Amino acid sequence: MMERRSEIEKQKERIKARMSKIKHKLVILSGKGGVGKSTVTANLSVTFALRGQKVGILDADIHGPSIPKIFGIRGRKLGRNDESSGIIPPAGEFGVKVVSMDFLLKGDEIPVIWRGPMKASAIRQFLSDIEWGELDLLLVDLPPGTGDESLSVMQLIRDIDGVLMITAPSQISQLVVKRAVGFTRKLKVPLVGVIENMSGFVCPRCGEKSDILGSGGGQKISEQLDIPFLGKIQIDQRISKDSDDGVPFVFGHSETPAAKVFVQVADKVEKYLERRER
Ligand code: ADP
Repeated sequence: MMERRSEIEKQKERIKARMSKIKHKLVILSGKGGVGKSTVTANLSVTFALRGQKVGILDADIHGPSIPKIFGIRGRKLGRNDESSGIIPPAGEFGVKVVSMDFLLKGDEIPVIWRGPMKASAIRQFLSDIEWGELDLLLVDLPPGTGDESLSVMQLIRDIDGVLMITAPSQISQLVVKRAVGFTRKLKVPLVGVIENMSGFVCPRCGEKSDILGSGGGQKISEQLDIPFLGKIQIDQRISKDSDDGVPFVFGHSETPAAKVFVQVADKVEKYLERRER
């Protein structure tokens, strides 16, 4: 038991050393799944990478990892540094380094059936052993909600710059996102702001706008809970098609209104991070 405790302490020391080489760390969180957390993580990472920043993504969604699919890099292997026995992350097309459970799973039908302590241990190992090297920005894509993985990430990275909260416009989404905001505040991690995804749909044929899942939920959360509002991303079939094809949407369709919102969100995040540097 004592030995195990000292191993955990050693891992924490390694995490501190690794994180000290990364200028900024942001966590992407939502209340519910399927609201576009991974989509936002991947597209923001590419937006920053295209601005010349060195970016990494830790896909901390152990049960439903999807970042490698969005980058078209499923099936890549995590490398090993024989000298340090560290993990070397593969890089996507834009130089974004990605670590995901998906790289460790041998088949699509293999589930990850782990209880909490196993998940906490996996997150600790990822954070302590991955050799990101020097990065400008690490984005951590969490699974939905406030479970084991979220808690581990928020407690183990001591200097998280902030949380980006993703919500769909529906009241159901808003309800659970409030709990995720409460979680973030309880852990004393700053909130960068809220992004409303899947906000309305403009018909590509007739141009009419329909609020399929409602609209304005993100703004409501922002006002009610006093969190900056970062932007509304509309529903666009090309977002899901590009993700399925393994091409980040902001690159594949940079001229669309939704891609422009990603750029605006990235501008706001950049300003937020600059303010923290002062
Ligand atoms: P989460 O990470 O929150 O579970 P994902 O990012 O995996 O959600 O998104 C769920 C699905 O919705 C994916 O197929 C994704 O391509 C799609 N999607 C996300 N945002 C949009 C959007 N604004 N318009 C169209 N499809 C979207």
